[in-house]
Amino acid sequence: MRVLFVSSEVFPLIKTGGLADVSGALPAALKTSDVDVKCLIPGYTSVLEKVENKTHLGTLEVFNNISCELISATIPNTKVEVIIIKHAGLYERDGGPYTHPHGHDWSDNPMRFGVLSKVASLLSIYQSFWSWVPDIVHCNDWQTGLTPYYMRQQGITDAKTLLSIHNIAFQGNFEQHWIQSLGLSPIDFQIDGFEFYQQVSFLKAGIFYADQISTVSPTYALEIQTEAFGFGLEGLLQIRSKDITGILNGIDTDEWNPEADPYLPSTYSEKKLAGKSQVKTALQEALHLTADSKKPLLGIVSRLTHQKGLDILIESMPELIELGCQFAVLGGGEKSFEAQFLAYAEQYPNQVAVTIGYNEPLSHLIMAGADIFIMPSRFEPCGLNQLYGLRYGTPPVVSNTGGLADSICHTNDETIKNNTATGFVIENVNKMSLLVTIKQALSIWNDQKTWKKIQKNGMKKDVGWKHSANAYVELYKKLLN
Ligand code: ADP
Repeated sequence: MRVLFVSSEVFPLIKTGGLADVSGALPAALKTSDVDVKCLIPGYTSVLEKVENKTHLGTLEVFNNISCELISATIPNTKVEVIIIKHAGLYERDGGPYTHPHGHDWSDNPMRFGVLSKVASLLSIYQSFWSWVPDIVHCNDWQTGLTPYYMRQQGITDAKTLLSIHNIAFQGNFEQHWIQSLGLSPIDFQIDGFEFYQQVSFLKAGIFYADQISTVSPTYALEIQTEAFGFGLEGLLQIRSKDITGILNGIDTDEWNPEADPYLPSTYSEKKLAGKSQVKTALQEALHLTADSKKPLLGIVSRLTHQKGLDILIESMPELIELGCQFAVLGGGEKSFEAQFLAYAEQYPNQVAVTIGYNEPLSHLIMAGADIFIMPSRFEPCGLNQLYGLRYGTPPVVSNTGGLADSICHTNDETIKNNTATGFVIENVNKMSLLVTIKQALSIWNDQKTWKKIQKNGMKKDVGWKHSANAYVELYKKLLN
């Protein structure tokens, strides 16, 4: 089975969030399940720098006046083959994959990801330099949403399409004038097409034209079909309901492994947890928090946005600081959240440490060194940090939504007794619920014997990709039938 896996970010080449983690790990897991998989990704500067074994494949005329060089290369570690779209004007820039160094979106994002979508469709058919024609084109998020449309427009491909939705809040909706330069047919600018509230919607196009749709957890698959979570696309998703599958993400258990994590000053395992306290001390020292093992240390690694419910945590912090909690916060996003976290750090330097920005080594250190991980998300398609928390013996406090609901079992007398407790689930996303739940976690943390049980339950869980990769293989088979 040949699968072209199309994504705008692939770890470790480029990453802004969970999509990159999935796009790095899932193809690698598929490869071990005998799927012949190649990734397709834009040639951002960091991608061109980090890949190995680059070879020129050929040149494609994509749109009028836009042609791209295609390069084949391999991803370090996993050795998955990646096809890179090289176009210096579109992709080789300072800043992020979607944003200018000053933070605003690149104004030509429709073209940058229109090209990604179009190249994927062109690689679903024979080209003079390309005989590896895929059976399935696996698209991910809005950046690849036009691919199923272009493939239908071409009308000559046998390949089937799967669109995976990692976050429906990001839709890639752009002004109508893009129709012409993206080579779209004005006739399809309508409700039964890619039009969404008078805009060109990449994600809607994907949902409308893909053969199958998946999301990154079973609960989120149901949630996006409701008004509360569908961001306006719930009606279309209800129509496509029978074609939607929810598959919970796994994690890269080599990259996230407390027994061999190069970012940690000491490693540990479910059987030998002692190393975790040493990491905690190192983390407290590195962040200039009071180095005291008796102080509960709460970890947060996140985009600092409304989605992640961190405003509720911010409201709860005075009470938790009063209780003696410490906070290690890493993230970036909305300026007001950054400012409020930083203000606490300034006021309580021994208890609150805030690092703004993206920092891979520190994210591992927090995951391992914190006692409890906090994720009060308003919605969470899958969420990866709670899975890292399980693996690192850092039980998470999560809200009852999406992949959080599907992966964390709330601690109570019964789940402690039957060894299924792995974390703490907030009933509602509000300050009161969050405080009640964190206090519950703290009281169990004070009873270290029970706490260790919960840590071990989580650490024993199989959170790798094998199971999920098998579910994708089943979905691919269904598509081919
Ligand atoms: P989302 O994709 O919505 O941001 P996920 O939980 O699915 O959330 O994935 C987020 C990923 O990005 C995780 O691997 C998390 O550790 C990582 N991450 C988020 N913010 C940072 C940061 N500031 N520094 C390092 N890693 C981060």
